[in-house]
Amino acid sequence: MAHYDTIIIGAGMSGLAAGIRLAMFDQKVCILERHKVPGGLNSYYERLGRKLDVGLHAMTNFSRKGERGRPLTKLLKQLRIPYEKLELSQQHFSRIVFPERQLSFSNNPQLLMDEVASVFPHQQENFSHLLEAVLNFDDVNLQNQYQSAKEKVREFITDENLLEMLFCPLLIYGSAWENDMDFSQFVIMFKSIFLEGFSRPKNGVRSIINLLIEKYLQLGGELRLGAGIQKIDVENGVVRRVVLDNGEVLDSNKVMSSIGLPETMNIVSEKQECPAAGAMSFTETILFFDKKPADQGIHDTIIFFNDNDKYPYRKPDTLCDYSSAVICFPNNFNSDDYNEGVIRVTFMANFEKWNELDKAAYLLMKQEVRQASLSLIKKLFPQFEAELLYSDVFTPRTIMRYTGHIKGAVYGSTQKVRDGRTAVKNLFICGTDQGFLGIVGAMLSGISMANLHCLMSGDKA
Ligand SMILES: Cc1cc2nc3c(=O)[nH]c(=O)nc-3n(C[C@H](O)[C@H](O)[C@H](O)COP(=O)(O)OP(=O)(O)OC[C@H]3O[C@@H](n4cnc5c(N)ncnc54)[C@H](O)[C@@H]3O)c2cc1C
Repeated sequence: MAHYDTIIIGAGMSGLAAGIRLAMFDQKVCILERHKVPGGLNSYYERLGRKLDVGLHAMTNFSRKGERGRPLTKLLKQLRIPYEKLELSQQHFSRIVFPERQLSFSNNPQLLMDEVASVFPHQQENFSHLLEAVLNFDDVNLQNQYQSAKEKVREFITDENLLEMLFCPLLIYGSAWENDMDFSQFVIMFKSIFLEGFSRPKNGVRSIINLLIEKYLQLGGELRLGAGIQKIDVENGVVRRVVLDNGEVLDSNKVMSSIGLPETMNIVSEKQECPAAGAMSFTETILFFDKKPADQGIHDTIIFFNDNDKYPYRKPDTLCDYSSAVICFPNNFNSDDYNEGVIRVTFMANFEKWNELDKAAYLLMKQEVRQASLSLIKKLFPQFEAELLYSDVFTPRTIMRYTGHIKGAVYGSTQKVRDGRTAVKNLFICGTDQGFLGIVGAMLSGISMANLHCLMSGDKA
């Protein structure tokens, strides 16, 4: 029977980053991924010669080469990946669009400060105080306990409309909680979106995944695709081995799981308390046009749209909530590697409702979501006239099928384990349910959990 120092479950961003750290220090490590394609929530596929990214709208946490103290700089250093290899291209600008007001922001935080001063002049000083509190908060401290971000932010921001607008991008890009989030998570997201900003690697998410895999394999790590784990075998509270879907057994001293906390506990052989899965899932429409948005005067990179003064971030009662959306224009970064126009539209969705549809109703509903996406683009940009060449819609059901996340919950459970420990000795959690989300967050999670639990203290420099 093969024996490994560490087995990692899942070849998403966190699993791959953890694997690199362990292989770098000569551990015998194996990453096991159920699907044939790596990447997890952030994967890719090809249809009719077109390359589609599943997750990536934009990478958060932009930093320039060598900028000290930034999460992206730290993670590239830990993974020994040169900055240039990402070939990052910065966003133009993004917008939060509510019925009465709009706020633009870019990778220069001054733009958001100026916008708040101009749209909410009476909140200018309050916003500065919030900024100060964000900068002084130790957001990555693994001991931080849940604290309602809305309650905390109301200590500074006294205009509910501004508060709702600020929360809109932060919630939809990273909250497992409905209508609120943990204050630590708020600070992480605030910095990563409003202070550091968005960029896109050349050729999208596959470039990052390929870079990570190349590095991992060069260091001697083993990667097995199409190799799901059906059981984590535990004896007297200690991990002993894992059993693959095909019945193969692999021995290991430690197991690091990136598949989510409830999903992990569901496959542990000795019964464990299992937290509930999260509720937040989404549909995503990817549309290819014969014209690029910029040719018709559209220069936004991402729009966070909401047609109400309050932002309803929660699982809708219906299949989809069309009253708010994220609209991403992947052509609108400083360099554009697409030869067609691309627009992506995300709506909040209800997993249970999607799951009870039969095949015919499911296909019909996908048509409705496509139509709602096109209508929203037309509503925001009446001047946009282009022929639709190709489109695809994925739903909460697709997310569950391809990533294993229960109920297609993109941001996982509301129960995060910030130190990565579980009730089982030598079984650790990294990624979504450790609590660092998004592409950069997931990689940082993999690195920090590998450093903390699987490397000797002398190894980590
Ligand atoms: C529509 C959408 C848009 C997004 N947009 C962005 C964005 O613009 N920017 C951004 O930063 N982030 C974005 N994200 C979020 C980001 O993709 C995730 O936070 C991040 O990729 C999570 O990585 P992870 O490693 O924690 O988990 P995952 O990606 O979920 O990786 C877990 C892996 O484990 C595998 N697996 C599951 N069960 C088993 C098993 N039993 N055995 C073996 N393998 C198993 C899964 O197949 C998967 O590959 C988006 C996500 C979605 C869905």
